[in-house]
Amino acid sequence: MRNAIISSIGNSILVGVIHNHHKGKVISDYWHSAKIMAGILSGRVLTGPHSVQVSIADACNYRCVMCWEHSSEIEGRGADDLARTYHAGKKNKAAVMDFDVYDSFVRSLRKTGTRDISFAGIGEPLLHKRIVEAVALAKDLDMRVWITTNGSLLTPELMQELARAGLDDINVSLNAGASGEYSFVHVNQENSRFDEIIENLAWLRDYKRKQGLETPRLTLSNVVCNLNSHRAFDMMKAAVAAGAGAVSYRPVDIYEQTAKYALGAEDMKRLEGQFPLVARLARDRGIVTNIDSFYRLLEMRAGGAIPSPCFAGWLYPFVLANGDVTYCCISRQVLGNLGERSFESIWFDPSRRAMNAAAVKMHKTQQSLPKSRCRGCEQTLANLRIYRYAWPRWGRKLHPLTGDSRRV
Ligand code: SF4
Repeated sequence: MRNAIISSIGNSILVGVIHNHHKGKVISDYWHSAKIMAGILSGRVLTGPHSVQVSIADACNYRCVMCWEHSSEIEGRGADDLARTYHAGKKNKAAVMDFDVYDSFVRSLRKTGTRDISFAGIGEPLLHKRIVEAVALAKDLDMRVWITTNGSLLTPELMQELARAGLDDINVSLNAGASGEYSFVHVNQENSRFDEIIENLAWLRDYKRKQGLETPRLTLSNVVCNLNSHRAFDMMKAAVAAGAGAVSYRPVDIYEQTAKYALGAEDMKRLEGQFPLVARLARDRGIVTNIDSFYRLLEMRAGGAIPSPCFAGWLYPFVLANGDVTYCCISRQVLGNLGERSFESIWFDPSRRAMNAAAVKMHKTQQSLPKSRCRGCEQTLANLRIYRYAWPRWGRKLHPLTGDSRRV
């Protein structure tokens, strides 16, 4: 075991295996990665997480059909059982994070060694009135900062302020490829919103060019369902028009309310026809995309098994607007509240060990963690990558879906 740890740490330093789970980039902070890896292998938490998602605003101005929290498919907050039960039982109902809570959280987080923070989650982060200050504070602490947004509030003025504050990445959830169909998924929005967003993002591209800025980089994200599967190629064309450097495609999560939006055989045929064109245009324009991961996620979900241990307990906790820290962005297992305890005390609390121990056996027990939906979870691809790296022989042999040795 000791040799395995040492060799894994060395490999981690050399190769930087722990990929950023949002964007697929290799992180540069090798020492921090090595400590995370040593923690995973020894069953202890030795350092801060790789990255944290903060839902600085749980409120949203959209009602996207596939959203777990604000879907148009159901009256009231919390579109699925996990979300509904959590919101009904929580003590603090704040829908927007108190800035003082954020301030002490981000300082405490940085002390643990973490450098990646992403404003994303169950609401629209740009609804937080002090979002620019929140970005600037994290940048002052030498962190890499992402925002995931629906893009509706990204005016040129706000983008300029965010760029000046040092924002590294903007991830716009577009979920559409044509202006006449924007409201298919974003049901409370006018179709004209699509053109406004693309126009504003093109403004950002020109602004960065004029100012000689590389950041904020832009990614366009698309949840693909049977309402928009015919627009995969147009989504890539929209990325070209907006000046995006990356485009992500993700199959819709299926739960009770979204089952009717699942990708069927016809959708898959349409996608197969478009993805070669998507790949060619991406290559020609130097845009990063993730078609392989799209298929692997679908394949994994179809297989029905949990193919990997989960390392979320070392890698990526989630923080809600009321200060609740949960095990991951899907889980609603609350580890502690930032209004009551510092992030460090929550993160290094030995009581987390039992859950972490269950998480690393998940592929053997085939049991989801409490208040989580682990089967089909998108983070499985990142987990598998680490699993196969840290346990090269076992990880590849044990792939329960296909038995093959492909790297994810
Ligand atoms: S596998 Fe479960 S615990 Fe791990 S990230 Fe996914 S939902 Fe969270």
